[in-house]
Amino acid sequence: DARIEGYDPELAAAIAGEVRRQEDHVELIASENYCSPMVMEAQGSQLTNKYAEGYPGKRYYGGCEFVDVAEQLAIDRLKKLFDADYANVQPHSGSQANQAVYLALLQPGDTILGMSLAHGGHLTHGAKVNASGKLFNAIQYGVDDNGMIDYDEVERLAIEHKPKMLVGGFSAYSQVVDWARMRAIADKVGAIFFVDMAHVAGLIAAGVYPSPLPHAHVVTSTTHKTLRGPRGGIIVASEKGAGEGFEELTKKLQSIVFPGIQGGPLMHVIAGKAVAFKEALEPEFKAYQEQVVKNAKAMAEVIIARGYKIVSGGTENHLMLVDMIGKDVSGKDAEEALGRAHITVNKNSVPNDPRKPFVTSGLRLGTPAVTTRGYKEPDCVALAHWICDVLDNPKDENVIAGVRENVEQQCKQFPVYG
Ligand code: PLP
Repeated sequence: DARIEGYDPELAAAIAGEVRRQEDHVELIASENYCSPMVMEAQGSQLTNKYAEGYPGKRYYGGCEFVDVAEQLAIDRLKKLFDADYANVQPHSGSQANQAVYLALLQPGDTILGMSLAHGGHLTHGAKVNASGKLFNAIQYGVDDNGMIDYDEVERLAIEHKPKMLVGGFSAYSQVVDWARMRAIADKVGAIFFVDMAHVAGLIAAGVYPSPLPHAHVVTSTTHKTLRGPRGGIIVASEKGAGEGFEELTKKLQSIVFPGIQGGPLMHVIAGKAVAFKEALEPEFKAYQEQVVKNAKAMAEVIIARGYKIVSGGTENHLMLVDMIGKDVSGKDAEEALGRAHITVNKNSVPNDPRKPFVTSGLRLGTPAVTTRGYKEPDCVALAHWICDVLDNPKDENVIAGVRENVEQQCKQFPVYG
């Protein structure tokens, strides 16, 4: 039997279980989404067999004539999507894209200034446990008492520490970042301005969140979050953002991805990226991203009305952070209780969190996945009430069972892959 099911029943059962879980649980992890069957078709194709070190037209292996076409399609579409003048589609992940940027443009020991993990930044923006915090002298900025990025503090830290690079972007921030202000701060101290737009890339592609491209010297992203493609990373830049150093900068970026930190690109994933970028250029993608934001706002309104705080007071993008400081329920308890109700979320530290990072006082909720399923505002309002029912009664198994029944019904109404 040439199928996994016949050959490897244990693995087949794990895959079938995950397929079922994706259908009958509601997915609110802000960094997840459901890519299209065509993206999966590309990833399951024979392109996985091909070595293609180098770039289209300049490979170190023979037989690259077809994968060259696939990679060039991905590059051209990506440039169009973000109005970029440079695009590299080879980074295996968001973390590798970020590593490429750091290693291309900095020396070990240089100072970087990024958003702290505890205030909504990503590990790769200078956290101590990450290479970005080990190789570089990482200074971290955060949010003010209202949960907004404190630009005055960013400026003060920049003047004090003279970073070589200012890092913008986030994993848990629900407001619009003022990219122009960040660039002005970088310019003031002669720093490179690098933006990791991973979380909001889909919103940006659709024009429902401001683009950092005209303001940043270089921009990275993952391709699997709001952008709804395969798991992977990208690097883009614009002549406007990079300025006079554009040519030199892009040369450094090209050679650091390959041969600097990667070997053969994952051509099946790059083909998946090409499909996803074509999908993102369709008019429906704009409507989808608009709905993502509407759904997030609808959920936030209910959660606030039910007596929970949202960091920064609401959301202007696809995610929100529920702040449960002072409540009996921790992020960890809430994640587990919601999990029993088939609602998948992640616990998340909130600014000034008194609980440990593995426990936390927060929940991060995001609407990209449910919106792909077809959820509209009324569905999100119902869902937000069920979440609050569980948060109000995290130990009441009757409440949890009732919510689970409602969630299962709702999931049946909105099949993911049919
Ligand atoms: N950058 C940001 C802002 C992220 O939120 C993430 C993932 O959560 C990454 C980078 C890392 O991406 P990957 O998991 O593909 O390495």
